[in-house]
Amino acid sequence: MKIELIRLKFNNTHSYKYKLFTHCCNKIQNDKAIIFTGEDLIHSDDCLDDERYVPQFCTSHTEVITSYEDEWEQTNNYPIQFCPHCGKKIDIAVVDEIDVSDKYKELSKQRDELWRKCQRTDSKKKESELREQVRKLDDQINDFYELCEWKGEY
Ligand SMILES: [Zn+2]
Repeated sequence: MKIELIRLKFNNTHSYKYKLFTHCCNKIQNDKAIIFTGEDLIHSDDCLDDERYVPQFCTSHTEVITSYEDEWEQTNNYPIQFCPHCGKKIDIAVVDEIDVSDKYKELSKQRDELWRKCQRTDSKKKESELREQVRKLDDQINDFYELCEWKGEY
């Protein structure tokens, strides 16, 4: 199974999108304990720094930790190199890097302007319309950070 990733650069950070790919078998696709993620990755010591945040197929373990009066869920995701069901190699490669800073800045600026207008207006109707627009922009901005399919835009 081959997964091609696009690295997006913006706002002094970066995120990843994946190109449409086909799972090696149905079993891995339906296996709830295996996820594709770039978060909470537990790497072996010989992992290169550049690779630490590249999304991987992982076996995911979540446990509830209790300490004194606190309780929280901790998730550890262990990258796998081979499909545990069919044994095929899982190949993950960053094939492109795209700078989307301008688009990100533009959306953030629009959002700030709308929000300012929203706080200033006396009309309830206008306010709810503006809120709705701000919400849509928030979704678009959040989408920059999500690990989701690359649709070739921004
Ligand atoms: Zn498989």
